[in-house]
Amino acid sequence: MSIERQTTTRSTVDHKFWPNKGPQAELTKKLLLENYAKTQGILQKPWLTQLSSFQRSYRYQLYRLIEAHPDQRRSLTYALNCRPTGIRAKPYTIACQNRRVCPWCFIRKLGKLREILVAVPLKIRNCSQLLMWKREIVSPRQNELPFFLPLQKGGPHLSLKAYLTSQLALPCIGVQSLFCLAHIAFQIIPPNQNVSQKLFDAAGEAIPFHVFPEASDENILQALTSSCRLDWFSLFEKQNFKIFEELYYSYPKNHLLRTAKNYTNPKEEFEDGK
Ligand SMILES: [Zn+2]
Repeated sequence: MSIERQTTTRSTVDHKFWPNKGPQAELTKKLLLENYAKTQGILQKPWLTQLSSFQRSYRYQLYRLIEAHPDQRRSLTYALNCRPTGIRAKPYTIACQNRRVCPWCFIRKLGKLREILVAVPLKIRNCSQLLMWKREIVSPRQNELPFFLPLQKGGPHLSLKAYLTSQLALPCIGVQSLFCLAHIAFQIIPPNQNVSQKLFDAAGEAIPFHVFPEASDENILQALTSSCRLDWFSLFEKQNFKIFEELYYSYPKNHLLRTAKNYTNPKEEFEDGK
């Protein structure tokens, strides 16, 4: 009996799904299912069917990983049974926390990032711009992360007088199936900031960006769904197993999200005033 068959029968939890609504469902549909369903020719199918198919594709790549690392079968079984997002799933299995390859934990992390952004008080967000920028580092050195420090001279948090800067590092599969690190940031900045004159990397290269006129809930969701697109279907293909394996074991102890704030929320104001 093949290891895929053994793992399927002995360890795989058969989740049942029910529809759900809210930002996490939107993120799941836009970032995981939309492109995948197109590639698989199942766009016309109900989205819960698309989600089951997506889960199967991910699991097949994990079965290959278990086959390559049988000594880690126990911990990899947690990944296999990680609870999907955007729906209600039973049984309620625990999250594996490996957002480098786990699409569900990736969406959970983006959900947390969204909460950080919408936690900025509306009185600030309504009269601020939302800035999003993204750069890609091909074949990055392991354990070296590209984040700008909050107080770095010439860094975007300080130079753009940002109220909030959240930087995200996403290890991913890049062009020609090379290991790549996407460095994406979301900043809430005052109006009339001249972004193009202030946004450069350490080598002096301009960083591609997009500005939304206000940091509304809708714009925050749109910024996340337009910038955090990864090619999940390619990542799950058998021919890309090696890069999947590399991603699985990359940056295991690193926090891949950094946030700097330069505002006081009403609760903190109250506590400070006591
Ligand atoms: Zn997971």
